[in-house]
This record gives sequence, C-alpha cells and structure tokens, in this order.
Amino acid sequence: MNDAHHVEPVIRIGASACLAGERVRYDGTDRRDRHLLEELPGCFERVPVCPETAIGLGVPRAPIRLQREAGQIRLRGIDEPAADHTGAMLNLADHMARTLSDVCGFVFKARSPSCAVDDALLLQDDGSEVRHAGLFNQALRQRLPLLPVIDENGLADQTSRERFIERVVLLYRWRQVSDAGMNAARLQAFHCAHRHRLLAYDEYSCLMLDDLVAQTGDDDIAAQAGIYIGRFMAALEGATKCDHARVFRELLAALPGTLTPQQDIGIRRSLAALAAGEIDMDEMRARFLALPGAAALPGVQRSFYLYPYLRDFVERDRP
Ligand code: SF4
Repeated sequence: MNDAHHVEPVIRIGASACLAGERVRYDGTDRRDRHLLEELPGCFERVPVCPETAIGLGVPRAPIRLQREAGQIRLRGIDEPAADHTGAMLNLADHMARTLSDVCGFVFKARSPSCAVDDALLLQDDGSEVRHAGLFNQALRQRLPLLPVIDENGLADQTSRERFIERVVLLYRWRQVSDAGMNAARLQAFHCAHRHRLLAYDEYSCLMLDDLVAQTGDDDIAAQAGIYIGRFMAALEGATKCDHARVFRELLAALPGTLTPQQDIGIRRSLAALAAGEIDMDEMRARFLALPGAAALPGVQRSFYLYPYLRDFVERDRP
C-alpha cells in the first residue's frame, strides 16, 4: 500500500455534545474535552448528540437519575420523581440507532445518567447506589452492538485512546467491505488483511476465525459474516495486551528457506528490543520485511499489521 495513493476517508463518530463543547448540561455548562477535539485523527468527524435535550429537556433543567423499580431501570427527575423520561429515552435510542447507523464509534460523557458507559449511579430499591451504564448509552449499544465506545476518562489514557481509534478504524473498514456486498472472497480478504492484528491481541479468537472463514461459502455468507465481525470486534474490545512476538514467530516460521545464523540472531534480538521498548513497531516491521522472502509471503503485502498505511490514524503498536 502506498500512502501517496491513499485517499483519506471521513469516519464519523458520535460524541456526547457537552464533550464537544456545546453548553447543554443541566446547569448550562459544557465539558469541552481536549482529547475528543484535538487528539483524534483528522479524518474523524464528530457528530454531537445530547440525549437529554433531544428528548425535550431544556437547558438549564432539573437533574435526573437512574433508579431501579421492580427490576426495571428508569430515568426520573431527582426533585420531581413523577417525571419519568424512560420511554422517551428508549424511543430516542431507537431513532438514533437508525440515523447514526453509519457512525463507527461513540465518545460518551462519564457519570451521566443518560450517557455514561459504565459509571452512572443507579439508585437501588434499598436506597444503595451501584454503578451502571447510562440509559441512552445502554439502549444504543443494545441496538448497535458492534459500536466501539469510550468515555472521556478512557480517551485521556493514551493506550485506551489508541485502542479505541483502532477499533473505530477497523469497524469502518469492515463496513466498507460490507457495503460493497459481502461474499466469501471478500470475507477471506478482510480476514487475511487483519488477522495479524487479531493474532497479536487474541490467539484463540484468531484461530477460531481462521476456521470460520475457511468453512464459509457464499451460501451462508450473511450469517457467517455476522458471526465473524461480532467475534472480531469482541476480541479487539476484550484484549488487554498485545503480543507482537506471537505474530512475528508465525511469520518467521512461514519464511521460505532458513535464515543464516546472523539473521536468526539479529531478528531475535530485534524482538527482544521491541519487547523492551528499545525499538518501535515501524523499526521491527522494517527489520522483518528486510529478511529474504519476507515481503513476498502470501498475504503480507495486504496485511494491515505489516503495512499500516493507516498509521496516521493511530499509534497502536505499544505492547
Ligand atoms: S452528558 Fe449527555 S445528556 Fe448530559 S449534557 Fe452531556 S450529552 Fe447531554
């Protein structure tokens, strides 16, 4: 892949409007977030959404909270408990799941009863409080289960931010293939292009998806593609560590011929240096691709991992 021929796409992501700088909070303030506005790739287009103003609550407005009632979670006014916004918020999530079906990620405001990913306070029947997803957040994710999400606290952490960006980019790439019309050959090509990345994160899922792709034909493509991308995105979301050595061990084993003792020692030293943080992934890739036959290995030229021409989207190669 050649950067010079790469046309930068526009990748839309949703964002809690207060984080995007809109003064829509209950007290008329915003929570402008530098990482959302300045640290994401230039090709990301933010789509601000404020669920509470979207269901007709004004600015300023009385604060609301989550509470559990007879096993159900409801969104009610704190000072006006009779004001129940649950139905309106679920209807909004239905609507937004359709109108935002092209967004490839969402940055949510933490601790909000509407937007929080996992740390809104939920009042229990017994008066205690536990942490829970905001109602809009939960409902939207149920309707768009592949959607990568993060809150501003995750965005402030470099590793979490990079992983989020990567998942957004990969979902975008999946949708491009899907929109072109999925078939067995396209599924195989997508898997081939991204399996090294998956292997670095989660070997078990990678091997499972190797099998799924190998067994998929055009007859069952719709169901199998759905299973594939669900497992692919879940593996990326659940990954906590990236094992680059695992990928390079596989690649080295696939090389034609044998390396000279000097080449063998050199590449093993490079892997140790990568693990120790003494060289970065660009250097490691360059050293691997310089080995005899490496650049000609099947699938290598289209590997998102080895030719990260989207690297301006994301520095995602930390161990
Ligand atoms: S947290 Fe969500 S609902 Fe609250 S002001 Fe921000 S965007 Fe609106």
